[in-house]
Formats: sequence, C-alpha cells, structure tokens
Amino acid sequence: MYHHPLLILTINCYFVNIIYFKILSISVIIIYRNYGDFMKNIFSETYESLENYFLSIGDKKFRATQLYDFLYKKRIYNLNVMNNIPNTVKDKIHEDYDFSFIKILKKQEDIDVKKYLFELNDGNRIESVLMYHNYGISLCVSSQVGCNMGCKFCESGRLKKVRNLETYEIVEQLLLIEKDLGIHITHIVVMGIGEPFDNYDNVMNFIRIVTSNKGIDLGSRHITVSTCGIVPGIEKFMNDFNQVNLAISLHAPNDEIRNKIMPISKAYKLDELINVIKKYIKKTNRRVTFEYIMLDGVNDSLECAKELSSLLKGINCYVNLIPYNETENIQFKRSNKVQILAFYDILKKNGIAVTIRKEFGGKVDAACGQLRAKSY
Ligand code: SF4
Repeated sequence: MYHHPLLILTINCYFVNIIYFKILSISVIIIYRNYGDFMKNIFSETYESLENYFLSIGDKKFRATQLYDFLYKKRIYNLNVMNNIPNTVKDKIHEDYDFSFIKILKKQEDIDVKKYLFELNDGNRIESVLMYHNYGISLCVSSQVGCNMGCKFCESGRLKKVRNLETYEIVEQLLLIEKDLGIHITHIVVMGIGEPFDNYDNVMNFIRIVTSNKGIDLGSRHITVSTCGIVPGIEKFMNDFNQVNLAISLHAPNDEIRNKIMPISKAYKLDELINVIKKYIKKTNRRVTFEYIMLDGVNDSLECAKELSSLLKGINCYVNLIPYNETENIQFKRSNKVQILAFYDILKKNGIAVTIRKEFGGKVDAACGQLRAKSY
C-alpha cells in the first residue's frame, strides 16, 4: 500500500509531539518536586539565619523580628495576614520558603499524659509525649525516624534509623501540640525516638529556635537533652550550650553489663564517658542526670548499686531510677519494687542524689522506651 510522504511526515510529527509532550510533562513534575524539596521549611530557620536571609534579599534585619513575632508569639502562619511586611517581601518569602506542617495522626490520652503520633510529609511517622508535672508541662520530642543505637531494652530503637528529623519537624511537634491543647509547654526533653547527638545540628537549631527571646522564649534550663553516651557529641554540646541540661542513659555500672544492653558502649567505654562528663561539669557547672532503667536480673543487683555508687562518687549528678516498662516485643522484665527500693537505699546511703521516676503513660504506651510500641 502506498502512503503519501506528507501523510507519513504528519503521523511521525504527531507521535514525536506526543512523546515530546510526555517528556516535557515528566520533566516539569520532576523539576517541581525537586524545587519543593529545595525550599526550606520556615520552621527550620533560627532567628539569626532569618536575619541573614533578609539581608541576602536586600531587606532589613528587623524583618526577622516581625516574622518570628507572627510565627512564634502570635502563632499566625498565613503570610497574607502579616500586614506589616511589604508585599514584595512576602512574595519573596513565598518563593523561598515552605510553610507546611506535619500532621497529627492519632492522640492517646491518660490523666497525666498524652501521646501524639505524627505523620511527616514523606509518610514516615514519629511520636511525642506530653506530661503534666507539678512544676509544669513537659514535652518529650523525637529527633529521628527510628534509631541506630540499638539499646536492647528499647522499643523505640527496634526500628532502625530511617533518617534524621529536620529542625522544623521537631519544632512543629511543639507547635501542633500547644495548638491542639491550647497550652504552653514549659519544659522540653529531647528523649523520644532517636539519639539527639546523632542528629546534632538539627536538634541544636531546634533548641536555638525554642529558646529565642524573639519567639517561644523557653529558658535553656528548662530543656534537657538525653544521650546514650556519644562522647564527641557531649564535647561539642558543652561548648555550644552550657545552660541546657544534659542527661546520660547510663543503665549499667560497668562495661560488661553495658556492652550487653547498649551497643554504643563498645564505641565509648565507661571511663571515657565518665571523663567527658567530669569535663562537662567543670566547664558548665551544671549537674548531670544519669538515667538508669531497672531490668530484672540484669543491672539491678545490690552489687550493681554499690558499683554505681563508687563510679559516681564525687560527681555532681543525680540518678533517676526508672522502673522498666515491659513491652510484648522485648524479653526484659521490670525489677520488682523491693529490689528497686533496696537499690535506691544503697545509692542514698553512699551519698548519691537519687529519685525513682514517677511513671507516666503506661496505659497509652507512652512510657520511657515504649514509643512506637503499637503505632505501626
Ligand atoms: S534508648 Fe534512645 S538511643 Fe537507645 S535505642 Fe532507644 S531511642 Fe535509641
């Protein structure tokens, strides 16, 4: 059959156009998505970095004060309502920043505790726990999706680290919970899912944002960062934030037991950890908290209590004994009350400041080491 060359050319052009159009559309989608990824979320910006941003676009530094005032004091997130910012500047902010929020997926409540499950913009999930104390309202935030530290007793760490949380994803845990409950959080503990010193920069920017007196203005001494014992992180932290509290997940009085339950102790031995803590105390003049989860038959013997007393003798610290919260996936058992009290007595007699932690949230799986127990 004969086909006129003009017809063939027309058909070819038609198919070439379709293919060209498809390639073009896919490219537009990819460029758009990547552009979205490049846009920084506004809640990741510290006050100082926002000042620099405004200078970089030829505007004035004080614009950072205005924006922080809207975002963190008035809690207004719609740029159009910010009437003291010129439209040209608003257009630029719109171009450069994403104002999106993570989402609250679920809330579980008990009398003195509320646990929130959040979905991040990429579908990952994290949790935060709010606790009502007699001294204020404290929020335990997560710093990573999963955790690579592999502490054997920890439900939160059963999911390996997927990624670090961005600064805004930590800030928004606080903003969303405050809005949901109509409250002001007075204390923060970075003790949820993740090891904060494994996501150092983003966690430290989070602290800079919530302590800025241009915004949320939380006192540094109302914030506690808890590490499983990453020595270089502690070194850095003592230089960067000498007023923020430091807590150490210790959980054992010697390397032998610690190696069995906390793999990090193979990288940083106990004497190295204790030495850096002494340095930290000397430099900051702050008291350090040692967290000690009481695991039946593992670290709760009276010998362990004596050994712990000698290890901590002369160190400006206090020990928080934490009755273990059993979960179905982990075989450790909680020490019984008599054992916990006997352990407590030995520390006390040896002059160590010690408390037994009030238990929060067992009914909603929000207790220490239980985050993500039933969320997935
Ligand atoms: S206790 Fe903390 S550092 Fe250890 S695995 Fe759990 S979340 Fe990670």
